[in-house]
Amino acid sequence: MSQGKSAHSRVVVLGAGPYGLSAAAHLKGKGVEVRIFGQPMAFWADKMPAGMLLRSPRVASNISAPERQTTLDAFETSAGVPPRAPLPIETFVEYGRWFLAALGPSNEFHPNLPRSRRHNSPTAIRVVMLKLSPEGAWRS
Ligand SMILES: Cc1cc2nc3c(=O)[nH]c(=O)nc-3n(C[C@H](O)[C@H](O)[C@H](O)COP(=O)(O)OP(=O)(O)OC[C@H]3O[C@@H](n4cnc5c(N)ncnc54)[C@H](O)[C@@H]3O)c2cc1C
Repeated sequence: MSQGKSAHSRVVVLGAGPYGLSAAAHLKGKGVEVRIFGQPMAFWADKMPAGMLLRSPRVASNISAPERQTTLDAFETSAGVPPRAPLPIETFVEYGRWFLAALGPSNEFHPNLPRSRRHNSPTAIRVVMLKLSPEGAWRS
């Protein structure tokens, strides 16, 4: 894929869970236009027990991004949330939603794809597998 400047290089990420958010952040970091479909952190918010404490340690609970401004620590500082270990699920859900907002206004948020179809949204999606080369370039 080229550098993401043309209309044909727009990428859609299906699902706004931690990996989807991270993929979007890294693509955006490479200058690729990204649209994210899905309710942010829906699986965590709706399908896991309230009050659950994360099994993963704090250091492994950062959502990966090309820059350091969207770490778990940065979220807690920004939101005035006291750091805790293990991490409460509610904090992680809010962190994911804050992370999505921090991706910036160029990122459009859409509801779940099936619902878009019901509303006859003119959405056309071509799925492309990308590989990150050792030099840091995305290739299809
Ligand atoms: C009880 C439990 C505890 C866990 N604890 C931990 C832990 O402590 N630490 C840890 O690292 N991992 C933990 N995991 C694993 C963790 O949930 C997954 O590794 C992680 O959620 C994967 O992230 P993801 O972004 O790939 O997927 P998800 O978080 O599942 O996100 C995918 C999203 O895509 C959405 N989606 C699906 N289809 C569509 C569509 N067509 N259109 C729009 N949206 C769509 C879904 O609704 C969902 O919100 C736990 C899992 C469970 C079940």
